[in-house]
Amino acid sequence: MSYDSMPAGPAEHRCNVLVIGGGPADSTAATLLEEKGHRVTLLEKAHPPRFHIGESLLPANPPLFEKLGVRAEVEAIGMEKWGAEFVSPWHEHRQTFEFADAWDKSMPLAYQVRRSEFDEILIRNAARKGAHVIEGCRVRDVEFLPNDEGAIVRAEHDDGRSETWQCRFLIDASGRDTFLGNRFKGKQRNPRHNSSALYGHFKGAQWNAGKKAGHISLFWFEHGWFWFIPLADGATSVGAVIWPAHLKTRKQPVRDFFLDLIALCPTLAERLKDAELVSDVEATGTFPIPVTAATAPTTCSWGTPMPSSIRSSRPVSCWP
Ligand SMILES: Cc1cc2nc3c(=O)[nH]c(=O)nc-3n(C[C@H](O)[C@H](O)[C@H](O)COP(=O)(O)OP(=O)(O)OC[C@H]3O[C@@H](n4cnc5c(N)ncnc54)[C@H](O)[C@@H]3O)c2cc1C
Repeated sequence: MSYDSMPAGPAEHRCNVLVIGGGPADSTAATLLEEKGHRVTLLEKAHPPRFHIGESLLPANPPLFEKLGVRAEVEAIGMEKWGAEFVSPWHEHRQTFEFADAWDKSMPLAYQVRRSEFDEILIRNAARKGAHVIEGCRVRDVEFLPNDEGAIVRAEHDDGRSETWQCRFLIDASGRDTFLGNRFKGKQRNPRHNSSALYGHFKGAQWNAGKKAGHISLFWFEHGWFWFIPLADGATSVGAVIWPAHLKTRKQPVRDFFLDLIALCPTLAERLKDAELVSDVEATGTFPIPVTAATAPTTCSWGTPMPSSIRSSRPVSCWP
């Protein structure tokens, strides 16, 4: 059924596709669908730019940025990332991988980005391409219509106003909020992939020289591993991914616990010896949240989490 032949329903607004969320997956879907002529409404509960973790992009991203028409904008805020460095505390050897050495030589470069800036570029681009982007608007409820006729979505603005949309297709790209996963009670934790992360931003960290300055460095240590992500404005994002059991041993404030973890990894501590922690330290779970419950034929989940039913879809960023 096309948008135009959609029966008039009880909702105040109509669109062909409604996207829940304004992260990278959401904005990408909205942009590409608008370009294909669909009428897309995107509802984002926050107001961009907003903080988000997930700063190290992969080499398959720049071709997608070309396609979206944002390559130059991402380049302007991004730190060039030509590879990754793995540092083990148990060996002298450091293993470096350059993307240019991959079998497929067509994607030698990725970027490290501040997600507040990166996500804002993508959402503004979606609006520029014609998507109706509404910020400060949280999706609260969805009701699926019979005969695959789409859904009625109810959302609430920051000021408490409630509005409804009738859409032919619904894309849930609400990230870790897993809007439809909650709605369908279809979330399952993977007991074998279950960790916690603590992270913060430093100024004055020691970077690699030359072209390797933007490499992501990954340091193993006895309780897990660290990321070290140089950003274009001179800051460095550092995060510890640790076993939840070790997090439970914490007796000190999160910030002190994080700094104590760094001290347990001398190769990383050396790179941070003259650096200053310039942000709060945040803690979160890093487990993936597969959403297995069937939703509806006119619905798709996108980005994080990946539902098992649409494994062929590509998230726009991957971790690690
Ligand atoms: C500790 C940690 C480190 C990570 N590091 C990396 C990394 O280095 N590189 C990498 O590629 N990935 C990394 N990731 C993963 C990365 O953060 C995600 O893959 C990425 O953010 C997914 O994008 P998305 O668009 O699917 O969801 P999100 O970016 O989470 O966007 C979802 C959006 O939906 C909005 N939303 C949610 N619910 C509603 C609602 N009901 N109504 C309206 N809006 C709503 C949210 O406000 C949000 O803006 C990391 C993840 C974690 C936890």
